[in-house]
Amino acid sequence: MTATPKQVFDSVERTQESFEPMTETTRAVTMDKIAALSKRRGIVYPGSDIYGGLANTWDYGPLGAELKRNVKNLWWSTFVHRRRNIVGLDAGILMHPRVWEASGHVQNFNDPLVDCKTCRSRFRADHLIEERLGQKAEGKSPTEMSAILREANLRCPNCGNPTLTDARQFNMMFRTMIGPLEETGTEVFLRPETAQAMFVQYKNVVATGRVKVPFGIAQIGKAFRNEITPGNFIFRLLEFEQMEIEYFVKPEEGDSAFEAWLSDMRGWLRMIGVGEDHVRIREHDRDELSHYSSRTVDFEYEFPGSMGWRELYGLANRTDFDLGQHQQFSGEDLTYFDQAEDRRYLPHVIEPTFGVDRTCLVLLIDAYDEEQTVDVNGKPDTRVVLRLHPRVAPYKAAILPLMKKPELAEVARRLFDRLGEEIEVLVDYDESGNIGRRYRRQDEVGTPFCITVDFDSLEDHSVTVRHRDDMRQERLRIADVPEWLAEQLR
Ligand code: ATP
Repeated sequence: MTATPKQVFDSVERTQESFEPMTETTRAVTMDKIAALSKRRGIVYPGSDIYGGLANTWDYGPLGAELKRNVKNLWWSTFVHRRRNIVGLDAGILMHPRVWEASGHVQNFNDPLVDCKTCRSRFRADHLIEERLGQKAEGKSPTEMSAILREANLRCPNCGNPTLTDARQFNMMFRTMIGPLEETGTEVFLRPETAQAMFVQYKNVVATGRVKVPFGIAQIGKAFRNEITPGNFIFRLLEFEQMEIEYFVKPEEGDSAFEAWLSDMRGWLRMIGVGEDHVRIREHDRDELSHYSSRTVDFEYEFPGSMGWRELYGLANRTDFDLGQHQQFSGEDLTYFDQAEDRRYLPHVIEPTFGVDRTCLVLLIDAYDEEQTVDVNGKPDTRVVLRLHPRVAPYKAAILPLMKKPELAEVARRLFDRLGEEIEVLVDYDESGNIGRRYRRQDEVGTPFCITVDFDSLEDHSVTVRHRDDMRQERLRIADVPEWLAEQLR
C-alpha cells in the first residue's frame, strides 16, 4: 500500500504543493493515532460525548458513515447483486425467545468471567490464560480454567492482589422486555448474531425465493453482545454490525463449498484494498470449535501495538446443526426436496461472516501512512495519508478552486454538480484556505483525487487532478472528468 515516492509536476506550479517525500515509509500506525484521526476528521466519535461518553460505545461521524456505507454497499453488490443464487434478507433484531434456545445461545453463548475481589476488575478467564500464561484456553470449561489459574497463582493484572475468583459462565445476550409491565412482559433478547434469521426464514425463502440448492441468504444488520472486556476502539463493541451469508448446500458438498468461500473471502479483502501483509488464515483446533461447527477458520489481521493478531472474519461449516435444531424446536419440516435428484435432505450450511466495524477499523489501519517530507521553507514535515482504495474512500474526489473567486467558483460548482448527477458519488467542495493545507486535509481522510480549478481553467477548460498517493498531477479537460473519475473507481 505504499506509494512510490515520486512526484511528477505537469502543468501546475510547484508552489501549489510543497511536499517532497524523503524516505521509504514504514508502519507508522498506532491505535491511538487512528482514534485521534477519527475524532479529528469526523470518522468516529465517542458515543454520548457531551454526557462524558458511555464506555465502549462509538458513533460514526459524517465521513465514518460514508466509509461504513461504502463497505456495506460494496459487500451487498458483490455477494448479493452479482450472484444469481444469493438472495437478501432484512430481519428484525427481536426474535421469538425459542430461537435462542434452539440455536444453543441460551445454553452456550457464555464467556468465562473472573472477578477481582479487591479492585472489582473483570476479566475473561480465557484471555487471562492466553495472555498471561501463554496457554490456549478456548473450548475449556470454567472448572478447567479455574484450575489453571489457581495452579499458576495468577494475581489480578490490575491491582496485583491474589484475589481473583474462580471462572464462572456469563451469558452475553442482552435482554429486554416486550409489554407495558415488567412483571407480565415477555423477556426477549437482542440478537447476538444476524445468522439465526436466515435459518428461521429459510422455509419461506425456499417457498417464495425461487432458489435451488446450492443457494445463499445474506443479511447486513446490527448484533448485540454484552462483552465482558470490550475495547480497543471499535474492535470489540457492545453493539456492532455483521454482514453474513448462510450458504445452503447438499450434505456431501460442504467441504468444496467451504474452500470456494475461503477463496471468495480473500478476494473480497483484495477488492477493498486490504493488503495481504497483515492478514493470515487460522484454522480452529478441534477443541476450540463452536458447538455448531465442524470446521472453522478465522481471517486474522495483525493490529498494531500490543493487540497483535486478532479475528477479523470467520468462516464456518455449520453442517445441518441449525436447520436440525429449528426443525426440532419449531416442529416444522425444514427438509429440502431436491427435484433433480429426487431426494429429500436437510442442507448443510457454510457461513462466511464479516464484521462491518472491524472492516472499517482494518481499512483505516491498513491505509494509514506517514511520509517524511519537507515544507516550502525546507523544514522537515510529516504528511499523514490514508491510502484507502477509491472504492471505499468517503470522498471520491475533492473540488478545490485555487482561490475564493466567483469566476473560479462558477466553474468548480458546475463540475461538482455534474459529478453528483452523472456518476452519483460523494465529492467534497472546499474553497477556504491555502491549497497545500486543503490537500493535506484531503490526504488525511483518504480522498484519492483533488481537482483544482485555477485561472487557466477559464481559458483552456481544463483542471489539474492531483493523485493522493504519489502527489502526481495531471491536466484533464473538464468535459472528460466525470468519465475519467468513473473509470478510476471501477
Ligand atoms: P471474537 O473471538 O473476537 O469475540 P467471535 O468469534 O465471537 O469474535 P463471531 O461470533 O464469529 O465472532 O462473529 C462474527 C464476526 O462479527 C467477527 O468475525 C467479527 O468481525 C464480528 N464481531 C464479533 N463480535 C464483535 C464485537 N463485539 N464487536 C465488533 N465486531 C464483532
